[in-house]
Amino acid sequence: MIEDWKNNRKMAKKAHQKLVQRLKKRKGKKLDEQAEAVHEAVFSELNCLDCANCCKSIPPILNRTDIKRIAKHLGMKISAFETVYVRQDEDGDTVMNSSPCPFLETDNSCNIYDYRPKACRQYPHTDELSFSQNIRLHATNAQYCPAVFHILERLAVVGLK
Ligand code: SF4
Ligand code: SF4
Repeated sequence: MIEDWKNNRKMAKKAHQKLVQRLKKRKGKKLDEQAEAVHEAVFSELNCLDCANCCKSIPPILNRTDIKRIAKHLGMKISAFETVYVRQDEDGDTVMNSSPCPFLETDNSCNIYDYRPKACRQYPHTDELSFSQNIRLHATNAQYCPAVFHILERLAVVGLK
């Protein structure tokens, strides 16, 4: 599935943008239920530990609670944690300051998994009936995340009936 994404994501970009525009018109519970089912199916076939592309390429947003929790876990003062790991991005968001993420291990696991930022827990925003709330993100995320790519591919077949 990851190879398929690598080989086809660029070609599929425009089709996914069009699909999202069509899905926007159907926002609501029914679409979210269909997306949730497709999300479950895709993630049953795809292991994030074989990928980690989000951790390698998208610095996660950090809120104050994330910073306090992770700093405490690492035994660091908040100010020291911010100096070592945090920066403001071009949109003014507070994010992890390097890509790949400094907490990504060589086996693609997360060194602070139980303490990881909320943004990491929620990515790629396709489960827990959150698909339609985040609909503007999916075409872009399909370029970074093989799961989103395959979710959109499958919704193109089943989600528009
Ligand atoms: S969420 Fe997507 S990009 Fe991140 S590891 Fe899983 S499949 Fe890869
Ligand atoms: S904190 Fe963990 S889950 Fe989040 S980007 Fe870094 S390695 Fe990935």
